[in-house]
Amino acid sequence: MTKYYQTQAIIIKKRDYKENDRVFTVFTKENGKIFLINRGSKKIHSKISGHLELFYCCNIQIAKGRNEHITGAQIVNCFSKISKNYNKFCQASLVAEIVNLLIKEKEPSLPIFDLIYETLDKINNEDNKIFVMHFILQILSKLGHCPEVNFCVKCHGKLTKSNYFSCALGGIVCEDCKKQDLESTMISKNNVKIFRILLGNNFEFVEKIKISNENYLELRNTIFAFLSSILELIDKDKFFKKIFV
Ligand SMILES: [Zn+2]
Repeated sequence: MTKYYQTQAIIIKKRDYKENDRVFTVFTKENGKIFLINRGSKKIHSKISGHLELFYCCNIQIAKGRNEHITGAQIVNCFSKISKNYNKFCQASLVAEIVNLLIKEKEPSLPIFDLIYETLDKINNEDNKIFVMHFILQILSKLGHCPEVNFCVKCHGKLTKSNYFSCALGGIVCEDCKKQDLESTMISKNNVKIFRILLGNNFEFVEKIKISNENYLELRNTIFAFLSSILELIDKDKFFKKIFV
């Protein structure tokens, strides 16, 4: 007998499947990332497909079988400005792609669901690239990859005048310890402070961050390098192109 259930889900990815169907990658409140089929989704008169656009948050009814099928959907929040603004769309796409790359199937996490939702909401309502940087550090932290930014990750000593970020060691290293990782890169004092705010997960402080273009580039390069070191096989250039917004 077919079992039915309902969940709240954010649409992360959609692709065509067979002649008339689509497969959706969604991040749900209860079951984490799952794949759902919607039969007839490509047909013009499909009643459900209009509710299943990228980045929408929906209440979805699902029939459980060998595959899981969507039988109904109602929009909770469509983040309407994202689809109308190229920069916002690129930022939301990057968030979705990172979820795709980092999160395994069926690993539930309400904090990650809330993080995705809140980040899309911020991208929708405000023009600030910093929210994507906040998202990356927060999701990495929630997955157990929080970088050390309060003291030297190697010797645990206080940070010095000149500090460096080491992807291999997982955080900031002091002048002496940078010799342990020749690939560590310089990080400004200002960006050390910004790292701490971004890892604090308080949107009120995050949206107040003021950053120069030069500092933003350093911050972004450091965070992407760290993300790439964790994903290892990521095509870093792909991310760099997307974030130039
Ligand atoms: Zn040290």
